[in-house]
Amino acid sequence: MGLNIIIVGSGLAGLAAAAFLRKQHTVTLLEKSKLDFERNDYGISVIANAYSLLQKAGIDDTQLNMAVMTKLWQRTAQNEEIVTAEFDTRKTFGVPSVLTKRSHLQQELHRLATSPDLEGQPAKIIEGIKVETVDANTGTVHTTDGTSFSGDLLIGADGINSFVRAAVLSSDGKADHEAPATGHDLLAYMAQIPTSILSASPSLSFLADPANSAGLVNFSSPRGRTDKLRILGYHTSPREFQLVGYAPEDEFAAQFDELGTSIIKGVSASRAKQAFSEFSPALSDFFDHHRSGDGTVEVWRIRDLDPLPRWSLGKTLLIGDSCHAVTPHAGQGCNIAFEDAEALGHVLQDVKDQTGLKSAIDRFLQIRKERAEFVARSSRHMGALLGPDAGPFDEGKRKEFGMKTYSYRGAKQALEQLESTA
Ligand SMILES: Cc1cc2nc3c(=O)[nH]c(=O)nc-3n(C[C@H](O)[C@H](O)[C@H](O)COP(=O)(O)OP(=O)(O)OC[C@H]3O[C@@H](n4cnc5c(N)ncnc54)[C@H](O)[C@@H]3O)c2cc1C
Repeated sequence: MGLNIIIVGSGLAGLAAAAFLRKQHTVTLLEKSKLDFERNDYGISVIANAYSLLQKAGIDDTQLNMAVMTKLWQRTAQNEEIVTAEFDTRKTFGVPSVLTKRSHLQQELHRLATSPDLEGQPAKIIEGIKVETVDANTGTVHTTDGTSFSGDLLIGADGINSFVRAAVLSSDGKADHEAPATGHDLLAYMAQIPTSILSASPSLSFLADPANSAGLVNFSSPRGRTDKLRILGYHTSPREFQLVGYAPEDEFAAQFDELGTSIIKGVSASRAKQAFSEFSPALSDFFDHHRSGDGTVEVWRIRDLDPLPRWSLGKTLLIGDSCHAVTPHAGQGCNIAFEDAEALGHVLQDVKDQTGLKSAIDRFLQIRKERAEFVARSSRHMGALLGPDAGPFDEGKRKEFGMKTYSYRGAKQALEQLESTA
């Protein structure tokens, strides 16, 4: 068998990496929570660049309860049409882009990583075990129950508050604490509603038929496209819709800090409606219908990461949000994590021991780091988080972003392109 690989974190990045690595390597995942895919669930877009890779990994799309994206709607805060654009990547890039929920994706990736019926050795997941110290140079972690794990390769897939990142960035390669993320004084009011509610509202009924027309709608700020206030909505299944209302943190900033959390539940929907009082009531009233059923919504703190000086040190490598958490505006956070996972599987496919590991990691970094940083910066720009001098993320930038991002077809092609331009 190949390498002994330890992955910290069983989120989308960790599970996807395990799915791509299990054919050749022995993979163990350490996860601090008990795996509960429904907890803190939300809608997520998987665009052609990543969906093509998941298809290659054998994802069963019948398990995703998904809607295929075909439209992008741009509307004003008063729900007047600006542009209705076709967004069908089956026609433009030969692969669908889909809207689903994180829980369905995670469930499917769990199957691909652990099923005994698939090629290679099922990955082993140890749940309820928190990594509390990391030595990046030796690839060793200690967990809260007193156990230590060492691998030929340690992968940090432990999300935006990564312990492993703290070690990779420290001068001695050791850490016993989380690493900080970058705030933007931005939160999202989150609500999930059935599409039946949309059909009852004539001015928004264009969103009510995801079987024929699914996609993403952006209601821009009444103060212009360089203002961060906006409401985004998208289908998450043939019968459900996700509302994400971006607004300044206001009084929630202190609560996030005091509670040490990035999600506050049970917030009165009236608070969301107040934040969006300049938007059409036909739209902001949807916050009353969040599936909690008690007139409350959730608020999620939105943060990302500045470009890091490095993603790897010694025997350790970072992937996913741990090294390139992005704001959700570009809908690419998990997409680029899936690209990482596929790229790891590719560069490590013939590596059987420490020989060749360093050059494989170098090739991974060559195709991944700059690309992820481009996505992160573009996502900030889309969310008007680069400051007024950056101007709006206009049609030209949107096209450039789409061409560069959605045309990605995996590490083999990316490495070939790199060699041809060297
Ligand atoms: C509102 C919202 C909307 C989004 N929409 C989209 C979208 O449309 N498209 C898209 O591509 N992306 C989207 N994203 C981003 C996407 O969800 C993330 O990029 C992705 O989930 C990151 O996966 P990850 O595995 O890197 O991190 P995480 O999902 O954070 O997983 C990290 C895992 O590590 C575990 N862990 C952490 N610390 C430790 C420790 N010390 N020991 C052991 N285990 C540990 C955690 O419990 C967790 O299971 C969105 C995000 C948000 C918040």
